[in-house]
Amino acid sequence: MTSGSPLAADPATDFGGTRHHGCMATDTPPCAELHLHIEGTLEVPMVLELAERNGIALPTPDAAALRRRYEFTDLQSFLDLYYENMAVLRTPEDFESLTAAYLRRAAAGGVMHAEIMFDPQAHLIRGVPLGAVVEGIAAALAAAEDELGVTTDLFAAFLRDRPAAEADAVLTELLALRAPIAGIGLDSAEVGHPPSLFVDLFARAGALGLHRIAHAGEEGPAVFVRDSLDLLHAERIDHGIRSVEDPALVERLVRDRVPLTVCPLSNVRLHAVPSLAEHPLPRMLAAGLNVCVNSDDPAYFGGYVDDNFAAVRDAFGLDADALATLAANSVDGAFASPARKDELREAIVQWRAGVSTRFSTNA
Ligand SMILES: [Zn+2]
Repeated sequence: MTSGSPLAADPATDFGGTRHHGCMATDTPPCAELHLHIEGTLEVPMVLELAERNGIALPTPDAAALRRRYEFTDLQSFLDLYYENMAVLRTPEDFESLTAAYLRRAAAGGVMHAEIMFDPQAHLIRGVPLGAVVEGIAAALAAAEDELGVTTDLFAAFLRDRPAAEADAVLTELLALRAPIAGIGLDSAEVGHPPSLFVDLFARAGALGLHRIAHAGEEGPAVFVRDSLDLLHAERIDHGIRSVEDPALVERLVRDRVPLTVCPLSNVRLHAVPSLAEHPLPRMLAAGLNVCVNSDDPAYFGGYVDDNFAAVRDAFGLDADALATLAANSVDGAFASPARKDELREAIVQWRAGVSTRFSTNA
């Protein structure tokens, strides 16, 4: 484990910028980020740095060539790069560096509270002990509140295209390690892997008092959103954009204020929507859905949460009130303490007051 300050700026991974929530007026609001895969924050400089640290020969060792591979055009080219890059993550220090870099960048973009998923199976499959993964991530999370003012929760996300029994065994191992997880999630390839496969896993997590979240309605049908609520008792839905295809489901989601963690730039990159202009976010907002904006896998999908806010603001001409609503929804959907949520809400109110002039003159 590294000593000192894991969140101190690192020239190899520093993205610049400063925290801009609180009293400073900026174009995107302070918020909670609720849909973030830590493995998806692996930027080119860190891939190279960790490869060198661990003596790993990369298939694409040149930075410019590697960066070009981030401009993938289909799901497979993304997955190929995603898993190839993951090979550089070996030790607790690697996971700590990765997580600390994300937290610095997120804080600079206005994130005050982050609920972070990691994929235990993706590391176990390639022979990395779960203890190393958890130790490294937990160390960076533990430092975040004091050093960056960012509160966090950690979620173990299970790969739905692998057997449910494997997920159950991994949950057992996480409990034995006393991993500091707030809950479990369900991610990876949705089509062909319905929520019904994971009823027992989610029931077990619920009995343990863990929060339950699930990806649904990204590329899969709206019924997967319904089944995630009814069969898995998910408290929050990751993506959920295809809910708009089912009016009765929309009505229910609005009535129950079910949080939907939408990731606009990710949806465009993975072709879940044809273009940002055709993204259902404005319709979801207009319907009164509890929708918020997140980055998913920001190193791969074109940006962090502030980049996603800026993209939807520009694509849809969202005004400060709409952006503040998205940010407030992120707070409503978070599992942070009530006192922490009040702090975030106050920061959003301050942001809204600070940008009122700018937005009114630019309208
Ligand atoms: Zn995701």
